[in-house]
Amino acid sequence: MTMETKIKQIVRDVNDFPKPGIVFKDITPILKDAVLCGEITTALAMQLSAVKIDVVAGIESRGFLFGMALANLLNVPFVPIRKAGKLPHKTIQQSYDLEYGSATLEVHEDAILPGQHVLIHDDLLATGGTVVAASKLIQKLDAVVAGYSFIIALGFLNGKDRLKAFSENNFALAS
Ligand code: AMP
Repeated sequence: MTMETKIKQIVRDVNDFPKPGIVFKDITPILKDAVLCGEITTALAMQLSAVKIDVVAGIESRGFLFGMALANLLNVPFVPIRKAGKLPHKTIQQSYDLEYGSATLEVHEDAILPGQHVLIHDDLLATGGTVVAASKLIQKLDAVVAGYSFIIALGFLNGKDRLKAFSENNFALAS
């Protein structure tokens, strides 16, 4: 069975969460399967074998789960990118538009050094708005977006197209 098939079988579609019309991809069943978690982490790292990565940045909160595991396997630092008001030390911010209103992401200003190549990881790519904001944070710190890694990329929302301006390296295990 391919990794894509395994992921599609285990991820749970929850209709109308968190609001009507959204099909939420619930990855928590993956977390109950320790063998699959290891396989996913290895598969994420293999997709990135040709990419120079100094740091893995994971997006709150589900991007922390495999982001940290991936960083550990690649033997590089992990940096959390969080929603506004959660990080305790000095931060820089980037706001982005949501369907209704806006949201803000933050990173510690000393978390990433100028010139470092930063791989952005999240569980899922939808419109791309979240990782575009994360990319702008990385650029504000004079670092380089090395690429993107997702467990699932929802193709129909064309999020991929928005990421090309930052990096051509865009990988997902399932769509
Ligand atoms: P976007 O900024 O539109 O690419 O949305 C991506 C972020 O929202 C990620 O952090 C995802 O975890 C979350 N997200 C968006 N749509 C879904 C969905 N259908 N199922 C699960 N998570 C989602």
